[in-house]
Amino acid sequence: MALIVQKYGGSSVADTDRIKNVAKRVAQYHQRGDRIVVVVSAMRGVTDGLIALAKNIAPLPSEREMDMLLATGEQQTIALTAIALHALGVPAVSLTGAQAGIVTDGVHTKAKIHNITPKAVHELLHAGSVVIVAGFQGETREGQITTLGRGGSDLTAIALAAALKADLCQIYTDVDGVYTADPHLVPDAKKLNEISYDEMLELASLGTKVMQSRSVEFAKKFRVVFEVRSSLNDNPGTIVKEETKSMEGVVVRGVSLDKNQAKLTLVAVPDQPGVAARIFKAIGDAAINVDMIVQNISHGSGTPATDLSFTVDKPDLLKAKQVLENLKPTIGYQAIITNENIGKLSIVGVGMKSHSGVAGKMFEVLAREGVNIDMISTSEIKISVVIDLAKGESAMKALHAAFVS
Ligand code: ADP
Ligand code: ASP
Ligand code: MG
Repeated sequence: MALIVQKYGGSSVADTDRIKNVAKRVAQYHQRGDRIVVVVSAMRGVTDGLIALAKNIAPLPSEREMDMLLATGEQQTIALTAIALHALGVPAVSLTGAQAGIVTDGVHTKAKIHNITPKAVHELLHAGSVVIVAGFQGETREGQITTLGRGGSDLTAIALAAALKADLCQIYTDVDGVYTADPHLVPDAKKLNEISYDEMLELASLGTKVMQSRSVEFAKKFRVVFEVRSSLNDNPGTIVKEETKSMEGVVVRGVSLDKNQAKLTLVAVPDQPGVAARIFKAIGDAAINVDMIVQNISHGSGTPATDLSFTVDKPDLLKAKQVLENLKPTIGYQAIITNENIGKLSIVGVGMKSHSGVAGKMFEVLAREGVNIDMISTSEIKISVVIDLAKGESAMKALHAAFVS
């Protein structure tokens, strides 16, 4: 009798037929004698729809109120899933994140999980119920509702699997597993049988949205082995686990395109000690994650000045701009330029640690495609470039053909 955490994403609960389909699968496991905790997302499009409603009223709505609003999406699905299980004669109880004991910090819209006290979950499982937990949400110690960042239901599932010491953690989605590139954009992409935490983490943080990156970080830290698989068939999925020796044989495991980045450039910032520290401290204090940073060489006579560019997630662009505008009187730069038409294209693989010449080959392929490289960043197991968004998909296909096919 196994304890299994199953997470169903927005596409798997997109309408009532899909919810009934989820209930059927859960019922099969329950009838086998397994104890099941189900984590569900909001129905596809619901979270985006709620965000659009708020932005219709104000461009930068209060983050506390956004959490209050967005948490309702998952609350609909837990109740509907419980109702669907009842219709099949399966005992089931839905719980909000707070009721499931998920305690977070107070950073609204991007809260981190502090701890989980799943007393209610244990009691319901013990009584023979399926427990359905709202993904993506938690509560602070003071009782404020929070959310865990976009795609955060993955994190709810992995964190619950760790807290409950589950035997299995399954992430159900609308594709058969993790592919070498987004199968909806690259028809030649191949499904991977397994992938290491580090590769999955890089891909996830570089735009491969099949898993939320923070959930993979959590899985790596607490050694939660999980499987990404389809809710629409019974094909085996992709196992995400610790790196093994044999994984190093493959140089590039996957290619990823992140269309959700924006670039800010501060023109003519004084090139003096402490300026960058002040800028990025203020950005960090606003809970904005910065990825790539490029500083040009100094120009001008008198006080040297330089241009400073960096990338942030698109939804944070407006907030980042506001932070920088507030700094203008004390730092004294000339202008802010923003660009939302960028794409971050990356190749990822643990095999890069032991193979040379990968960057050269990547840049050659991009040159052949006539793609100009705007920014570059590398780590031991990835190379990322910022390019023009319009060329993103064709450049991704070219890299996939050169490295993976
Ligand atoms: P869910 O609603 O289940 O959370 P998501 O939309 O968040 O699903 O993630 C699944 C989607 O991720 C797929 O439909 C696919 O288009 C996209 N995706 C991007 N890159 C990959 C990849 N390398 N492998 C699999 N899916 C990917
Ligand atoms: N509903 C949330 C979102 O759309 C969380 C999730 O789907 O995982 O980001
Ligand atoms: Mg998702």
